[in-house]
Amino acid sequence: MSRNTVLIVGGGIGGLSASIALRNAGYDIEVVEIQEDLHSSVYGVGIIQPVNALRALDAIGCAEACMAVGYPTTAWGHMLDVDGNLIREMPGARIAGSELPPMNGLTRPQLHKILTDKALEVGVGISYNKTFATLTDGPDGVAVTYTDGSANMVDFLVGADGVNSKVRPHVLAEDLKPAYLGQSAFRLNIPREPEIDRIILQHGPEGLAGFVPIGPDLAYLFYNTTWEEGCWLDQDKMADELRERLAPFGGLAGRVRDAYVNDSSQIVFRPEEWLIAPAPWHNGRIVLIGDAVHAVTPHLGQGAAQAIEDGVVLAQCLASHADHEEAFASYTERRYERCRLVVESSVQIGEYEMDPSVHPDFDHAGLTQHVLETMVQPI
Ligand SMILES: Cc1cc2nc3c(=O)[nH]c(=O)nc-3n(C[C@H](O)[C@H](O)[C@H](O)COP(=O)(O)OP(=O)(O)OC[C@H]3O[C@@H](n4cnc5c(N)ncnc54)[C@H](O)[C@@H]3O)c2cc1C
Repeated sequence: MSRNTVLIVGGGIGGLSASIALRNAGYDIEVVEIQEDLHSSVYGVGIIQPVNALRALDAIGCAEACMAVGYPTTAWGHMLDVDGNLIREMPGARIAGSELPPMNGLTRPQLHKILTDKALEVGVGISYNKTFATLTDGPDGVAVTYTDGSANMVDFLVGADGVNSKVRPHVLAEDLKPAYLGQSAFRLNIPREPEIDRIILQHGPEGLAGFVPIGPDLAYLFYNTTWEEGCWLDQDKMADELRERLAPFGGLAGRVRDAYVNDSSQIVFRPEEWLIAPAPWHNGRIVLIGDAVHAVTPHLGQGAAQAIEDGVVLAQCLASHADHEEAFASYTERRYERCRLVVESSVQIGEYEMDPSVHPDFDHAGLTQHVLETMVQPI
């Protein structure tokens, strides 16, 4: 058996971040990604990076590159009513003693390229179009066979294969599936209007429109709406559907609807799912990170942030414990409550958006601020 080797299954945001952190901690790392290249594993349009994501990216040498291509903001956001009038400022949070901004936005392909380039630079091996066929955990390592017919033995295996993880059944006793929130989201890249200099949320009668700056000249529009599970929407009807839902809006959402919502092929439509796996997040030498154990709806922009933090903390725990059982137990202990808060708060915000009358006292901006302030605490 080779020594100090880690196989990471999944070359998404969490897997790549963990690969860099673990490589920097002295492990030999191989990532296997089922998709055929860097870009085919990217979905969605843009990514919100709250300050805690930037702190974790800074720990693996990637924060500067993200801010250089993205749009760092001076505050978290604004909340507007359906006509575009300001309801509430959302200041966000800062890390004491740090210059990092409350939030940075960038495109997903940019983030994947930055993480991939850094992983290759520090000596991580990445194989695309490849995954495991079988895993057998033993006292001395994990025996792995691959879909290309090869086989090897590794010291540890990290499951970073997303919300529908195939590694998860090797760790958890129960058959865990993501829950559909009841909302789905439209997303569309648009030119960045000057006022989109932070996250802008605009409440409508039946859904929430939002704007996120993701570059000096680029932003994205999202619209979260109640949507029947499994209800199919033809790609060529997307623009009509989105325009119809944005019809009640004035102000920014109204202007964006009229100017930019016209090309159905550019609109990404995604169901919103969530999941929080019970602790512990390891079994023997196999450990899970990212959406595989805590898939988050996008309401707080924290899913990727938590996946990146997982990788950084996992590397710290392995580096500081001689015994891997203790290292993995410490990893779950440091991550569980934090991730649970993000998952459950995101679901609460989504439920409120779907039916504000059921939760008349719900404080959307207040809960967002509470989570952001909790996230700037040390991990
Ligand atoms: C529409 C949408 C918008 C979002 N917006 C934000 C946001 O603004 N900010 C934010 O922080 N988070 C956001 N999130 C959440 C964020 O994208 C996820 O939380 C994050 O990508 C999780 O990272 P991950 O590495 O765990 O999983 P993923 O990014 O899903 O990566 C998993 C990887 O594993 C690969 N894979 C799957 N199965 C296998 C297998 N069997 N073998 C090998 N490889 C495999 C996949 O191809 C993929 O590359 C959003 C999510 C969605 C759906």
